[in-house]
Amino acid sequence: MTGRLAVVGLGPGDARSLTPEAAAALAEAKALYGYAGYLDRVPPRAGQSRHPSDNREEGARARAALEAAADGPNVALVTAGDPGVFAMGAAVCEAIEHGPAAWRTLDVAMIPGVTAMLAVAARVGAPLGHDFCALSLSDNLKPWETIERRLDAAAAAGFVLALYNPVSRARPWQLGKAFERLRRHLPGATLVVFGRAVGRADERLAIATLAEADTVEADMATLIIVGSAATRLIARPGLPPLVYTPRAGEVGP
Ligand code: SAH
Repeated sequence: MTGRLAVVGLGPGDARSLTPEAAAALAEAKALYGYAGYLDRVPPRAGQSRHPSDNREEGARARAALEAAADGPNVALVTAGDPGVFAMGAAVCEAIEHGPAAWRTLDVAMIPGVTAMLAVAARVGAPLGHDFCALSLSDNLKPWETIERRLDAAAAAGFVLALYNPVSRARPWQLGKAFERLRRHLPGATLVVFGRAVGRADERLAIATLAEADTVEADMATLIIVGSAATRLIARPGLPPLVYTPRAGEVGP
């Protein structure tokens, strides 16, 4: 079997943050798979077929792309940000683990992209400058109790937190609960950054304190960074503030 499947990270949205490696993988593909909203970001190219799908069916999308790659053509499966961060990379690996033996002989390449937490962090300064962790607030694939336990552990351990999937139409209350949970461990003055649709035309950034953080700032396209007790804000005349977490001097628990 000679098929190739490239799982390509498109970055946060701005074409300038697409890596040359990702651009090359897209150019070489004979068939493009992915969630329709992400595929729309890839300009059409002659001789390339497109197979958009609904966002909810990750496993089915991974299997469809693997089947196509096993049939011979060079296939690219596109994801937002990085394929390995709450995205199709793991879904493809899972499909291979449980799929036909032939899929294990495919040439599978994960092509990294700029993940949302890095894009948001870069907009405001260096909030991830010291130890941090990333959590998805989606309880579609894990119980809410697990999320609460991880929020408690991460906040109590002094990590800065990057929160993916904070809200969706089907998950309206989770973010409010998460803020409540974090307020048990962190001072009210802890900085919270909301980065929405970063790199896209409707980008919006907001900085708040944990005491005042309002869930209305967030939607499905928002990545939230909750600082640690060490995270600081530098006010600047006529310029947006810089938010950063110092590399030393952490006042850990
Ligand atoms: N693989 C993606 C994450 C997919 S999970 C990545 O590496 O970025 C989807 C979540 O990612 C969204 O709910 C949001 O939290 C975040 N996200 C994706 N693109 C974003 C963008 N341009 N701006 C802000 N957050 C984004």
